[in-house]
Amino acid sequence: MHGNNRIGFELSDKGTTTLQSFNPAKAETRPGQFRGATSGDIETAMAKAEVAFDTYSQTSPEQRAQFLDAIADEILNLGDELVRAAMEESALPEGRIVGERGRTMGQLKLFASLLRDGTWVEATIDTAQPNREPLPKPDIRKMLRPIGPVVVFTASNFPLAFSTAGGDTASALAAGCPVVVKAHNSHLQTNELVSDAIAKAAEKTGMPDGVYSSLAGEGFQLGTTLVKHPKTKAVAFTGSLGGGMALYKMAIERDEPIPVFAEMGSINPVIFLPEKLKAETEQLAKTYAGSITLGVGQFCTNPGLLIGLESPELDQFCETLANEISSSAAATMLNEGIAKSYSKNKETSLTQNGVKLISSNNVETPRNGANAAVARVSASDFLSNPNLQHEVFGPYSLVVTCQNQAQLDQVIAKLTGQLTVTFMGSENDFKSFENQIQSAEKKTGRLIYNGVPTGVEVCASMQHGGPFPASTDSRFTSVGSDAIKRFARPVAYQNAPEFLLPDELKNKNPNGIWRSVDGTWTNNAI
Ligand code: NAP
Repeated sequence: MHGNNRIGFELSDKGTTTLQSFNPAKAETRPGQFRGATSGDIETAMAKAEVAFDTYSQTSPEQRAQFLDAIADEILNLGDELVRAAMEESALPEGRIVGERGRTMGQLKLFASLLRDGTWVEATIDTAQPNREPLPKPDIRKMLRPIGPVVVFTASNFPLAFSTAGGDTASALAAGCPVVVKAHNSHLQTNELVSDAIAKAAEKTGMPDGVYSSLAGEGFQLGTTLVKHPKTKAVAFTGSLGGGMALYKMAIERDEPIPVFAEMGSINPVIFLPEKLKAETEQLAKTYAGSITLGVGQFCTNPGLLIGLESPELDQFCETLANEISSSAAATMLNEGIAKSYSKNKETSLTQNGVKLISSNNVETPRNGANAAVARVSASDFLSNPNLQHEVFGPYSLVVTCQNQAQLDQVIAKLTGQLTVTFMGSENDFKSFENQIQSAEKKTGRLIYNGVPTGVEVCASMQHGGPFPASTDSRFTSVGSDAIKRFARPVAYQNAPEFLLPDELKNKNPNGIWRSVDGTWTNNAI
Protein backbone atom coordinates (compact mmCIF):
# COMPACT_ATOMS: atom_id res chain seq x y z
CA MET A 1 0.00 0.00 0.00
CA HIS A 2 2.90 2.29 0.75
CA GLY A 3 3.20 5.20 -1.62
CA ASN A 4 -0.16 4.71 -3.27
CA ASN A 5 -1.27 8.14 -2.27
CA ARG A 6 1.68 10.14 -3.57
CA ILE A 7 -0.47 12.68 -5.35
CA GLY A 8 0.67 16.18 -6.18
CA PHE A 9 4.27 15.61 -5.08
CA GLU A 10 6.87 17.70 -6.84
CA LEU A 11 10.55 17.15 -6.30
CA SER A 12 12.15 20.57 -6.24
CA ASP A 13 15.64 21.30 -7.62
CA LYS A 14 17.10 21.26 -4.13
CA GLY A 15 15.89 17.76 -3.46
CA THR A 16 13.29 18.84 -0.90
CA THR A 17 9.66 18.06 -1.60
CA THR A 18 6.73 20.37 -2.09
CA LEU A 19 3.54 18.73 -0.92
CA GLN A 20 0.20 19.75 -2.31
CA SER A 21 -3.13 19.70 -0.50
CA PHE A 22 -5.82 18.03 -2.59
CA ASN A 23 -9.50 17.25 -2.60
CA PRO A 24 -10.06 13.63 -3.68
CA ALA A 25 -13.41 14.58 -5.21
CA LYS A 26 -11.86 17.15 -7.58
CA ALA A 27 -9.30 17.00 -10.37
CA GLU A 28 -7.73 20.38 -9.57
CA THR A 29 -5.50 20.64 -6.49
CA ARG A 30 -6.39 22.76 -3.44
CA PRO A 31 -4.47 26.00 -2.85
CA GLY A 32 -2.31 24.78 0.08
CA GLN A 33 1.33 23.88 -0.56
CA PHE A 34 3.56 22.49 2.16
CA ARG A 35 7.29 22.09 2.35
CA GLY A 36 8.49 18.56 2.87
CA ALA A 37 10.77 18.10 5.88
CA THR A 38 14.51 18.17 5.21
CA SER A 39 16.95 16.06 7.19
CA GLY A 40 17.79 19.25 9.10
CA ASP A 41 14.11 19.64 10.08
CA ILE A 42 14.02 16.06 11.32
CA GLU A 43 17.17 16.57 13.39
CA THR A 44 15.80 19.78 14.89
CA ALA A 45 12.44 18.22 15.79
CA MET A 46 14.06 15.18 17.41
CA ALA A 47 16.72 17.18 19.25
CA LYS A 48 14.08 19.56 20.61
CA ALA A 49 11.88 16.62 21.62
CA GLU A 50 14.75 15.06 23.54
CA VAL A 51 15.48 18.29 25.41
CA ALA A 52 11.78 18.92 26.02
CA PHE A 53 11.42 15.44 27.52
CA ASP A 54 13.62 16.44 30.47
CA THR A 55 11.23 19.17 31.57
CA TYR A 56 7.96 17.83 30.16
CA SER A 57 8.34 14.47 31.91
CA GLN A 58 8.62 16.37 35.21
CA THR A 59 5.45 18.45 34.73
CA SER A 60 2.64 17.76 37.17
CA PRO A 61 -0.43 15.83 36.02
CA GLU A 62 -2.46 19.04 36.46
CA GLN A 63 -0.10 20.99 34.16
CA ARG A 64 -0.42 18.35 31.46
CA ALA A 65 -4.20 18.20 31.94
CA GLN A 66 -4.37 21.97 31.39
CA PHE A 67 -2.28 21.58 28.22
CA LEU A 68 -4.65 18.90 26.86
CA ASP A 69 -7.74 20.96 27.75
CA ALA A 70 -6.16 23.96 26.01
CA ILE A 71 -5.52 21.91 22.84
CA ALA A 72 -9.22 20.95 22.79
CA ASP A 73 -10.21 24.61 23.19
CA GLU A 74 -7.83 25.77 20.45
CA ILE A 75 -9.17 23.11 18.08
CA LEU A 76 -12.68 24.41 18.65
CA ASN A 77 -11.43 27.97 18.12
CA LEU A 78 -10.35 27.00 14.60
CA GLY A 79 -14.07 26.99 13.81
CA ASP A 80 -15.35 26.47 10.28
CA GLU A 81 -11.92 26.75 8.70
CA LEU A 82 -10.91 23.40 10.22
CA VAL A 83 -14.21 21.74 9.33
CA ARG A 84 -13.95 22.95 5.73
CA ALA A 85 -10.33 21.86 5.33
CA ALA A 86 -10.96 18.39 6.77
CA MET A 87 -14.09 17.95 4.61
CA GLU A 88 -12.30 18.98 1.44
CA GLU A 89 -9.18 16.94 2.10
CA SER A 90 -11.06 13.75 3.05
CA ALA A 91 -14.32 13.99 1.04
CA LEU A 92 -16.12 13.15 4.29
CA PRO A 93 -19.40 14.96 4.99
CA GLU A 94 -19.80 17.86 7.41
CA GLY A 95 -21.71 15.87 10.03
CA ARG A 96 -18.95 13.29 10.21
CA ILE A 97 -16.20 15.92 10.51
CA VAL A 98 -18.05 17.91 13.17
CA GLY A 99 -18.67 14.66 15.06
CA GLU A 100 -15.03 13.72 14.71
CA ARG A 101 -13.94 17.10 16.03
CA GLY A 102 -16.14 16.51 19.10
CA ARG A 103 -14.61 13.06 19.52
CA THR A 104 -11.08 14.48 19.23
CA MET A 105 -11.80 17.09 21.89
CA GLY A 106 -13.51 14.44 24.02
CA GLN A 107 -10.41 12.23 23.84
CA LEU A 108 -8.16 15.11 24.92
CA LYS A 109 -10.47 15.86 27.84
CA LEU A 110 -10.68 12.17 28.75
CA PHE A 111 -6.90 12.06 29.15
CA ALA A 112 -6.99 15.35 31.08
CA SER A 113 -9.43 13.83 33.58
CA LEU A 114 -7.36 10.64 33.72
CA LEU A 115 -4.36 12.76 34.72
CA ARG A 116 -6.37 14.61 37.37
CA ASP A 117 -7.56 11.30 38.80
CA GLY A 118 -3.96 10.08 38.77
CA THR A 119 -4.60 6.40 39.45
CA TRP A 120 -3.52 5.32 35.94
CA VAL A 121 0.16 5.33 37.02
CA GLU A 122 -0.40 2.04 38.93
CA ALA A 123 1.45 3.26 42.03
CA THR A 124 2.46 0.20 44.05
CA ILE A 125 4.25 0.46 47.38
CA ASP A 126 5.79 -2.28 49.49
CA THR A 127 7.06 -0.72 52.69
CA ALA A 128 10.28 -1.94 54.29
CA GLN A 129 10.40 -4.78 56.80
CA PRO A 130 13.80 -4.20 58.43
CA ASN A 131 13.31 -7.07 60.89
CA ARG A 132 12.29 -9.69 58.35
CA GLU A 133 14.16 -12.99 58.69
CA PRO A 134 16.41 -14.20 57.24
CA LEU A 135 16.90 -10.95 55.28
CA PRO A 136 15.37 -7.50 55.76
CA LYS A 137 12.93 -6.40 53.05
CA PRO A 138 13.74 -3.06 51.38
CA ASP A 139 11.19 -0.30 50.72
CA ILE A 140 10.19 -0.63 47.04
CA ARG A 141 7.82 1.68 45.19
CA LYS A 142 6.86 1.41 41.55
CA MET A 143 4.88 3.48 39.07
CA LEU A 144 4.55 4.17 35.35
CA ARG A 145 6.81 6.89 33.97
CA PRO A 146 6.92 8.37 30.43
CA ILE A 147 8.99 6.47 27.88
CA GLY A 148 10.47 9.39 25.86
CA PRO A 149 9.82 11.10 22.50
CA VAL A 150 7.06 9.36 20.52
CA VAL A 151 6.67 9.42 16.72
CA VAL A 152 3.03 9.33 15.61
CA PHE A 153 2.04 8.29 12.06
CA THR A 154 -1.40 9.76 11.56
CA ALA A 155 -4.20 7.77 9.91
CA SER A 156 -5.82 8.54 6.58
CA ASN A 157 -9.33 7.55 7.58
CA PHE A 158 -9.88 9.85 10.57
CA PRO A 159 -8.46 13.27 9.63
CA LEU A 160 -9.04 14.49 13.19
CA ALA A 161 -9.67 11.71 15.72
CA PHE A 162 -6.79 9.40 14.67
CA SER A 163 -4.66 12.19 13.32
CA THR A 164 -2.57 15.18 14.42
CA ALA A 165 -4.25 15.65 17.83
CA GLY A 166 -5.93 12.24 17.80
CA GLY A 167 -5.80 9.45 20.34
CA ASP A 168 -2.12 8.58 19.80
CA THR A 169 -0.90 12.16 20.25
CA ALA A 170 -3.27 12.83 23.16
CA SER A 171 -2.24 9.67 25.03
CA ALA A 172 1.50 10.22 24.45
CA LEU A 173 1.31 13.85 25.62
CA ALA A 174 -0.77 12.76 28.61
CA ALA A 175 1.89 10.20 29.56
CA GLY A 176 4.52 12.97 29.60
CA CYS A 177 6.12 12.23 26.22
CA PRO A 178 6.93 14.85 23.56
CA VAL A 179 5.37 13.98 20.18
CA VAL A 180 6.70 14.26 16.63
CA VAL A 181 3.88 13.76 14.13
CA LYS A 182 4.43 12.39 10.64
CA ALA A 183 1.53 14.16 8.92
CA HIS A 184 -0.62 12.14 6.54
CA ASN A 185 -0.23 13.48 3.03
CA SER A 186 -3.98 13.34 2.57
CA HIS A 187 -4.61 15.99 5.24
CA LEU A 188 -1.83 18.53 4.99
CA GLN A 189 -3.87 21.63 5.65
CA THR A 190 -5.92 19.98 8.37
CA ASN A 191 -2.65 18.90 9.97
CA GLU A 192 -1.22 22.40 9.77
CA LEU A 193 -4.31 23.96 11.39
CA VAL A 194 -4.40 21.43 14.22
CA SER A 195 -0.61 21.66 14.70
CA ASP A 196 -0.97 25.43 15.10
CA ALA A 197 -3.69 24.83 17.69
CA ILE A 198 -1.37 22.49 19.64
CA ALA A 199 1.49 25.01 19.42
CA LYS A 200 -0.78 27.80 20.74
CA ALA A 201 -1.97 25.60 23.59
CA ALA A 202 1.65 24.70 24.46
CA GLU A 203 2.59 28.36 24.57
CA LYS A 204 -0.43 29.38 26.64
CA THR A 205 0.17 26.66 29.21
CA GLY A 206 3.96 27.14 29.38
CA MET A 207 4.99 23.81 27.89
CA PRO A 208 8.62 23.44 26.74
CA ASP A 209 9.69 24.17 23.18
CA GLY A 210 9.78 20.90 21.22
CA VAL A 211 6.99 19.22 23.19
CA TYR A 212 5.23 18.86 19.83
CA SER A 213 6.38 19.01 16.19
CA SER A 214 4.79 18.01 12.95
CA LEU A 215 6.68 17.02 9.83
CA ALA A 216 5.32 16.34 6.36
CA GLY A 217 7.03 14.41 3.61
CA GLU A 218 7.13 11.24 1.61
CA GLY A 219 6.48 8.33 3.95
CA PHE A 220 9.36 6.05 3.14
CA GLN A 221 12.10 8.63 3.58
CA LEU A 222 10.63 10.67 6.41
CA GLY A 223 8.98 7.74 8.17
CA THR A 224 12.11 5.61 7.99
CA THR A 225 14.33 8.39 9.31
CA LEU A 226 11.98 9.08 12.22
CA VAL A 227 11.64 5.43 13.23
CA LYS A 228 15.39 4.84 12.99
CA HIS A 229 16.25 8.06 14.80
CA PRO A 230 18.10 7.24 18.04
CA LYS A 231 16.12 9.86 19.98
CA THR A 232 12.77 8.19 19.12
CA LYS A 233 11.64 5.93 21.97
CA ALA A 234 8.27 4.63 20.69
CA VAL A 235 6.10 4.73 17.55
CA ALA A 236 2.33 4.81 17.08
CA PHE A 237 0.83 3.96 13.69
CA THR A 238 -2.59 3.37 12.14
CA GLY A 239 -2.76 2.22 8.54
CA SER A 240 -1.93 -0.69 6.27
CA LEU A 241 -0.40 -4.01 7.23
CA GLY A 242 2.48 -3.36 4.80
CA GLY A 243 3.25 0.06 6.25
CA GLY A 244 2.89 -1.03 9.87
CA MET A 245 5.09 -4.09 9.43
CA ALA A 246 7.78 -2.15 7.53
CA LEU A 247 8.02 0.29 10.45
CA TYR A 248 7.89 -2.50 13.04
CA LYS A 249 10.79 -4.36 11.39
CA MET A 250 12.85 -1.17 11.19
CA ALA A 251 12.25 -0.54 14.89
CA ILE A 252 13.32 -3.96 16.08
CA GLU A 253 16.42 -3.92 13.86
CA ARG A 254 17.71 -0.69 15.41
CA ASP A 255 20.77 -0.88 17.70
CA GLU A 256 18.29 0.04 20.41
CA PRO A 257 14.99 -1.66 19.49
CA ILE A 258 11.88 0.35 20.37
CA PRO A 259 8.16 -0.56 20.53
CA VAL A 260 5.92 0.12 17.54
CA PHE A 261 2.23 0.16 18.37
CA ALA A 262 0.74 -0.40 14.93
CA GLU A 263 -2.97 -0.88 14.39
CA MET A 264 -3.28 -2.50 10.97
CA GLY A 265 -5.67 -4.69 9.04
CA SER A 266 -8.79 -6.41 10.32
CA ILE A 267 -11.75 -7.98 8.54
CA ASN A 268 -13.93 -8.07 11.66
CA PRO A 269 -15.84 -11.35 11.21
CA VAL A 270 -19.53 -11.39 12.11
CA ILE A 271 -21.11 -14.76 12.91
CA PHE A 272 -24.86 -14.99 12.37
CA LEU A 273 -26.30 -17.73 14.60
CA PRO A 274 -29.35 -19.66 13.33
CA GLU A 275 -32.23 -18.73 15.68
CA LYS A 276 -31.46 -15.01 15.46
CA LEU A 277 -30.97 -15.16 11.71
CA LYS A 278 -34.33 -16.89 11.27
CA ALA A 279 -36.18 -14.41 13.50
CA GLU A 280 -34.66 -11.21 12.08
CA THR A 281 -33.43 -12.06 8.57
CA GLU A 282 -34.47 -8.84 6.83
CA GLN A 283 -33.52 -6.50 9.64
CA LEU A 284 -30.07 -8.05 10.06
CA ALA A 285 -29.38 -7.71 6.33
CA LYS A 286 -30.43 -4.05 6.36
CA THR A 287 -28.40 -3.27 9.47
CA TYR A 288 -25.33 -4.90 8.00
CA ALA A 289 -25.71 -3.21 4.61
CA GLY A 290 -25.59 0.07 6.57
CA SER A 291 -22.50 -1.00 8.51
CA ILE A 292 -20.65 -2.18 5.37
CA THR A 293 -21.24 1.09 3.51
CA LEU A 294 -20.89 3.49 6.46
CA GLY A 295 -18.17 6.08 5.75
CA VAL A 296 -17.57 4.37 2.37
CA GLY A 297 -16.41 1.33 4.33
CA GLN A 298 -13.26 3.16 5.39
CA PHE A 299 -13.13 1.93 8.96
CA CYS A 300 -10.68 -0.51 10.49
CA THR A 301 -13.77 -2.08 12.09
CA ASN A 302 -15.68 -2.51 8.83
CA PRO A 303 -17.44 -5.92 8.76
CA GLY A 304 -15.54 -7.61 5.92
CA LEU A 305 -16.54 -11.21 6.67
CA LEU A 306 -20.10 -12.41 7.35
CA ILE A 307 -20.35 -16.06 8.43
CA GLY A 308 -23.49 -18.21 8.67
CA LEU A 309 -24.76 -21.78 8.49
CA GLU A 310 -26.25 -23.00 5.20
CA SER A 311 -30.04 -22.42 5.43
CA PRO A 312 -32.95 -20.78 3.59
CA GLU A 313 -32.59 -17.88 6.06
CA LEU A 314 -28.97 -17.31 5.07
CA ASP A 315 -30.04 -17.28 1.40
CA GLN A 316 -32.77 -14.75 2.23
CA PHE A 317 -30.28 -12.67 4.23
CA CYS A 318 -27.94 -12.62 1.21
CA GLU A 319 -30.79 -11.61 -1.11
CA THR A 320 -31.86 -8.68 1.07
CA LEU A 321 -28.23 -7.65 1.64
CA ALA A 322 -27.69 -7.77 -2.15
CA ASN A 323 -30.73 -5.52 -2.73
CA GLU A 324 -29.61 -3.04 -0.12
CA ILE A 325 -26.06 -2.90 -1.48
CA SER A 326 -27.21 -2.50 -5.08
CA SER A 327 -29.27 0.55 -4.12
CA SER A 328 -26.56 2.17 -1.98
CA ALA A 329 -24.84 5.32 -3.21
CA ALA A 330 -21.29 5.33 -4.55
CA ALA A 331 -19.03 7.87 -2.84
CA THR A 332 -15.56 9.36 -3.07
CA MET A 333 -12.89 7.64 -1.01
CA LEU A 334 -10.20 9.32 1.09
CA ASN A 335 -7.61 9.56 -1.66
CA GLU A 336 -6.67 8.24 -5.05
CA GLY A 337 -4.39 5.54 -3.66
CA ILE A 338 -7.08 4.16 -1.37
CA ALA A 339 -9.66 4.21 -4.20
CA LYS A 340 -7.27 2.35 -6.52
CA SER A 341 -6.36 -0.16 -3.81
CA TYR A 342 -10.04 -0.77 -3.13
CA SER A 343 -10.78 -1.58 -6.79
CA LYS A 344 -7.72 -3.79 -7.06
CA ASN A 345 -8.25 -5.66 -3.78
CA LYS A 346 -11.96 -6.13 -4.47
CA GLU A 347 -11.14 -7.52 -7.90
CA THR A 348 -8.52 -9.85 -6.40
CA SER A 349 -11.04 -11.16 -3.87
CA LEU A 350 -13.75 -11.61 -6.52
CA THR A 351 -11.46 -13.65 -8.75
CA GLN A 352 -10.47 -16.17 -6.06
CA ASN A 353 -11.62 -19.73 -6.44
CA GLY A 354 -15.30 -20.19 -5.58
CA VAL A 355 -16.05 -16.51 -4.84
CA LYS A 356 -19.31 -15.32 -6.42
CA LEU A 357 -20.33 -11.67 -6.58
CA ILE A 358 -23.88 -11.39 -5.27
CA SER A 359 -24.31 -7.66 -5.58
CA SER A 360 -22.61 -4.46 -6.58
CA ASN A 361 -24.03 -0.95 -6.79
CA ASN A 362 -23.46 -0.23 -10.45
CA VAL A 363 -24.29 3.43 -10.19
CA GLU A 364 -22.02 6.03 -11.72
CA THR A 365 -18.89 6.33 -9.60
CA PRO A 366 -17.68 9.80 -8.63
CA ARG A 367 -14.00 10.73 -8.90
CA ASN A 368 -11.95 8.38 -6.69
CA GLY A 369 -15.21 6.68 -5.81
CA ALA A 370 -16.06 3.21 -4.58
CA ASN A 371 -18.86 0.91 -5.63
CA ALA A 372 -20.00 -1.24 -2.71
CA ALA A 373 -20.09 -5.00 -3.29
CA VAL A 374 -20.82 -8.25 -1.48
CA ALA A 375 -19.76 -11.72 -2.52
CA ARG A 376 -20.30 -15.26 -1.27
CA VAL A 377 -18.01 -18.25 -0.86
CA SER A 378 -18.30 -21.72 0.65
CA ALA A 379 -16.48 -22.40 3.89
CA SER A 380 -14.39 -25.10 2.18
CA ASP A 381 -13.09 -22.59 -0.41
CA PHE A 382 -12.52 -20.04 2.35
CA LEU A 383 -10.60 -22.55 4.46
CA SER A 384 -8.23 -23.42 1.63
CA ASN A 385 -7.43 -19.85 0.62
CA PRO A 386 -5.64 -17.45 3.03
CA ASN A 387 -6.01 -14.62 0.47
CA LEU A 388 -9.67 -14.40 1.45
CA GLN A 389 -8.62 -13.07 4.83
CA HIS A 390 -6.87 -10.03 3.34
CA GLU A 391 -8.53 -6.74 4.20
CA VAL A 392 -10.37 -5.05 1.33
CA PHE A 393 -10.42 -1.51 2.75
CA GLY A 394 -13.75 -0.07 1.60
CA PRO A 395 -17.43 -1.08 1.27
CA TYR A 396 -16.88 -4.77 0.50
CA SER A 397 -17.88 -7.87 2.44
CA LEU A 398 -17.65 -11.61 1.87
CA VAL A 399 -20.35 -14.02 3.08
CA VAL A 400 -18.95 -17.42 4.11
CA THR A 401 -21.42 -20.33 4.11
CA CYS A 402 -20.69 -23.18 6.53
CA GLN A 403 -22.33 -26.57 6.00
CA ASN A 404 -22.59 -27.27 9.71
CA GLN A 405 -21.36 -26.35 13.16
CA ALA A 406 -18.15 -28.39 12.73
CA GLN A 407 -17.24 -26.37 9.66
CA LEU A 408 -17.96 -23.16 11.57
CA ASP A 409 -15.45 -24.39 14.18
CA GLN A 410 -12.86 -24.80 11.42
CA VAL A 411 -13.53 -21.32 10.03
CA ILE A 412 -13.15 -19.72 13.46
CA ALA A 413 -9.98 -21.73 14.11
CA LYS A 414 -8.54 -20.49 10.81
CA LEU A 415 -9.22 -16.79 11.44
CA THR A 416 -6.20 -14.54 11.83
CA GLY A 417 -6.10 -11.91 14.61
CA GLN A 418 -8.88 -9.33 14.54
CA LEU A 419 -9.84 -6.05 16.15
CA THR A 420 -13.39 -7.37 16.60
CA VAL A 421 -15.43 -10.55 16.29
CA THR A 422 -19.22 -10.18 16.46
CA PHE A 423 -21.86 -12.80 17.30
CA MET A 424 -25.44 -12.11 16.30
CA GLY A 425 -27.58 -14.54 18.28
CA SER A 426 -30.52 -15.23 20.60
CA GLU A 427 -30.09 -16.41 24.20
CA ASN A 428 -30.51 -20.00 22.97
CA ASP A 429 -27.97 -19.44 20.19
CA PHE A 430 -25.40 -18.17 22.64
CA LYS A 431 -25.91 -21.26 24.82
CA SER A 432 -25.63 -23.64 21.85
CA PHE A 433 -22.56 -21.89 20.43
CA GLU A 434 -20.66 -21.25 23.64
CA ASN A 435 -17.62 -23.23 22.43
CA GLN A 436 -17.42 -21.24 19.21
CA ILE A 437 -17.64 -18.00 21.19
CA GLN A 438 -14.83 -19.17 23.45
CA SER A 439 -12.60 -20.06 20.54
CA ALA A 440 -13.34 -16.71 18.85
CA GLU A 441 -12.07 -14.91 21.95
CA LYS A 442 -8.57 -16.17 21.14
CA LYS A 443 -8.70 -14.30 17.85
CA THR A 444 -9.81 -10.85 18.86
CA GLY A 445 -9.40 -7.78 21.04
CA ARG A 446 -13.16 -7.12 21.29
CA LEU A 447 -16.06 -9.57 21.27
CA ILE A 448 -19.37 -7.96 20.30
CA TYR A 449 -22.81 -9.46 20.93
CA ASN A 450 -25.74 -8.30 18.83
CA GLY A 451 -24.27 -5.09 17.48
CA VAL A 452 -22.17 -3.87 14.60
CA PRO A 453 -18.37 -3.54 14.81
CA THR A 454 -18.31 -0.05 13.27
CA GLY A 455 -18.35 2.60 16.01
CA VAL A 456 -15.67 2.43 18.70
CA GLU A 457 -16.67 3.94 22.03
CA VAL A 458 -13.90 6.00 23.65
CA CYS A 459 -13.88 4.91 27.30
CA ALA A 460 -11.79 3.19 29.96
CA SER A 461 -12.98 -0.33 29.12
CA MET A 462 -12.44 -0.13 25.34
CA GLN A 463 -9.96 -2.48 23.68
CA HIS A 464 -8.99 -1.42 20.15
CA GLY A 465 -6.19 -3.72 19.13
CA GLY A 466 -5.98 -7.47 18.76
CA PRO A 467 -3.73 -10.41 17.95
CA PHE A 468 -1.51 -10.01 14.86
CA PRO A 469 -2.16 -8.86 12.15
CA ALA A 470 -4.77 -6.59 13.75
CA SER A 471 -1.98 -4.98 15.74
CA THR A 472 1.67 -5.51 16.58
CA ASP A 473 1.01 -5.81 20.32
CA SER A 474 -2.31 -7.26 21.43
CA ARG A 475 -1.65 -6.27 25.06
CA PHE A 476 -2.41 -2.63 24.31
CA THR A 477 -5.25 -0.51 22.98
CA SER A 478 -5.09 2.56 20.74
CA VAL A 479 -8.55 3.81 21.79
CA GLY A 480 -9.70 4.68 25.30
CA SER A 481 -7.84 5.78 28.38
CA ASP A 482 -5.60 2.69 28.60
CA ALA A 483 -3.95 3.89 25.35
CA ILE A 484 -1.69 5.95 27.63
CA LYS A 485 -0.01 2.75 28.90
CA ARG A 486 1.73 2.32 25.53
CA PHE A 487 3.91 5.32 26.28
CA ALA A 488 4.86 4.63 29.87
CA ARG A 489 7.24 2.17 31.46
CA PRO A 490 7.38 0.94 35.04
CA VAL A 491 10.18 2.29 37.23
CA ALA A 492 10.86 0.92 40.72
CA TYR A 493 12.50 3.05 43.42
CA GLN A 494 14.27 1.08 46.14
CA ASN A 495 14.90 2.71 49.54
CA ALA A 496 14.49 6.14 47.88
CA PRO A 497 14.64 9.25 50.09
CA GLU A 498 11.12 10.69 50.37
CA PHE A 499 12.04 13.99 48.69
CA LEU A 500 13.39 12.20 45.61
CA LEU A 501 10.22 10.17 45.05
CA PRO A 502 7.61 11.30 42.49
CA ASP A 503 4.55 12.78 44.25
CA GLU A 504 2.54 9.67 43.37
CA LEU A 505 4.80 7.53 45.58
CA LYS A 506 5.38 9.91 48.49
CA ASN A 507 4.16 8.87 51.94
CA LYS A 508 1.84 11.88 52.13
CA ASN A 509 0.17 10.99 48.82
CA PRO A 510 -0.26 14.71 47.97
CA ASN A 511 -2.50 14.04 44.95
CA GLY A 512 -4.73 11.67 46.92
CA ILE A 513 -4.49 8.96 44.26
CA TRP A 514 -5.44 5.31 44.75
CA ARG A 515 -2.42 3.11 45.36
CA SER A 516 -1.62 -0.43 46.38
CA VAL A 517 0.17 -0.17 49.74
CA ASP A 518 1.42 -3.47 51.14
CA GLY A 519 -1.21 -5.24 49.07
CA THR A 520 -4.14 -3.02 50.09
CA TRP A 521 -5.85 -0.62 47.70
CA THR A 522 -6.06 2.80 49.39
CA ASN A 523 -5.92 6.55 48.74
CA ASN A 524 -4.70 7.32 52.28
CA ALA A 525 -1.29 8.66 53.23
CA ILE A 526 1.19 6.20 54.73
P1 NAP B 1 -0.39 3.47 4.81
O1 NAP B 1 -0.07 3.36 3.39
O2 NAP B 1 -0.03 2.33 5.69
O3 NAP B 1 0.33 4.81 5.33
C1 NAP B 1 0.16 5.31 6.65
C2 NAP B 1 1.30 6.25 6.96
O4 NAP B 1 2.52 5.52 7.07
C3 NAP B 1 1.56 7.28 5.86
O5 NAP B 1 1.98 8.46 6.47
C4 NAP B 1 2.67 6.67 5.05
O6 NAP B 1 3.43 7.63 4.40
C5 NAP B 1 3.47 5.96 6.11
N1 NAP B 1 4.14 4.76 5.59
C6 NAP B 1 3.55 3.72 4.97
N2 NAP B 1 4.46 2.79 4.63
C7 NAP B 1 5.66 3.27 5.06
C8 NAP B 1 6.99 2.77 5.01
N3 NAP B 1 7.28 1.61 4.45
N4 NAP B 1 7.96 3.52 5.53
C9 NAP B 1 7.69 4.69 6.10
N5 NAP B 1 6.47 5.23 6.18
C10 NAP B 1 5.45 4.53 5.66
O7 NAP B 1 -1.93 3.73 5.06
P2 NAP B 1 -2.93 4.81 4.39
O8 NAP B 1 -2.22 5.73 3.50
O9 NAP B 1 -3.65 5.40 5.50
O10 NAP B 1 -3.95 3.93 3.56
C11 NAP B 1 -3.55 2.91 2.69
C12 NAP B 1 -4.19 1.60 3.11
O11 NAP B 1 -4.01 1.38 4.52
C13 NAP B 1 -5.69 1.53 2.92
O12 NAP B 1 -6.04 1.22 1.61
C14 NAP B 1 -6.07 0.46 3.91
O13 NAP B 1 -5.87 -0.80 3.36
C15 NAP B 1 -5.12 0.64 5.05
N6 NAP B 1 -5.68 1.39 6.19
C16 NAP B 1 -6.00 0.69 7.31
C17 NAP B 1 -6.49 1.37 8.39
C18 NAP B 1 -6.80 0.66 9.66
O14 NAP B 1 -7.37 1.27 10.54
N7 NAP B 1 -6.40 -0.56 9.84
C19 NAP B 1 -6.70 2.73 8.38
C20 NAP B 1 -6.36 3.42 7.21
C21 NAP B 1 -5.85 2.73 6.14
P3 NAP B 1 3.14 8.03 2.85
O15 NAP B 1 1.68 8.23 2.74
O16 NAP B 1 3.90 9.27 2.67
O17 NAP B 1 3.63 6.87 2.05
